[in-house]
Amino acid sequence: MAKILTITNQKGGVGKTTTCVNLAASLAATKKRVLMIDLDPQGNATMGSGIDKHTLKLSAYDVLTDQASAAEARLTEVPGGYHVIGANGDLTAAEVELLSLPRREFRLKMALLEVMDEYDYILLDNPPSLNLLTVNALACSSGVIIPMQCEYYALEGISALVGTINKINQRLNPELKIEGILRTMFDPRMSLTRDVSNHLVDYFGDQVYRTVIPRNVRLAEAPSHGLPALMYDKSSRGALAYLALAGELIRKTAQGKVAQAADAAAA
Ligand code: ADP
Ligand code: MG
Repeated sequence: MAKILTITNQKGGVGKTTTCVNLAASLAATKKRVLMIDLDPQGNATMGSGIDKHTLKLSAYDVLTDQASAAEARLTEVPGGYHVIGANGDLTAAEVELLSLPRREFRLKMALLEVMDEYDYILLDNPPSLNLLTVNALACSSGVIIPMQCEYYALEGISALVGTINKINQRLNPELKIEGILRTMFDPRMSLTRDVSNHLVDYFGDQVYRTVIPRNVRLAEAPSHGLPALMYDKSSRGALAYLALAGELIRKTAQGKVAQAADAAAA
């Protein structure tokens, strides 16, 4: 059964989309079956996966509003080797339409039941806000990956996000937890970056991924070619960092399963 992970941070420009696309490609490169769903009306993850958002026939909008199933809306011929449910401006309307639909927080969860067994990982890219789309993502995920830049205000933002995750956890989804905090666009030459990074590790401990994503121009260039960095320049530091992140994630998932089995055996 797929592990659903949502990539979120209410701040824009922190590397959510870059993480979603490159993690999807890296997991696929290690033979995992991956579905990526773009939940941002800007459609950056869609374009960055080599899909023209303007010519999408079916998108996340159709899935959320029950006009298409996840299996119908997914695209399977994508350069990165993962499947994609894309997004474009239509998704802005979904936010409003969802309000009047029954079980509006669980539309995505219900839609994904049908394809859960076909994937190892389902990754959700989110807009930089907390709206009903993000709530749908959080309500169906088992974990949240929080990309953040190590700068002064980042810590403030993260405590608000942790509060939101706790609320969703209590009200909508008892499974939800922080899967990992990911330091992105990392530049170790800056002392502020190092300070914030140390604070983060002091506070969140092993919830912070050991893998750090460096600032790397290939990661910024790749989307304009409609490719993940791994397909654009596979030996770039950016591509290698996301491969390392995929490895860390897979190990954590395996450890989680072992711990679960041990708990079950002890019970
Ligand atoms: P978000 O989805 O959180 O808004 P993006 O992933 O779109 O953030 O990243 C914002 C900008 O920074 C994009 O132009 C992206 O190409 C660039 N970028 C993201 N991560 C890196 C990185 N590690 N090194 C260099 N540029 C990056
Ligand atoms: Mg984005």
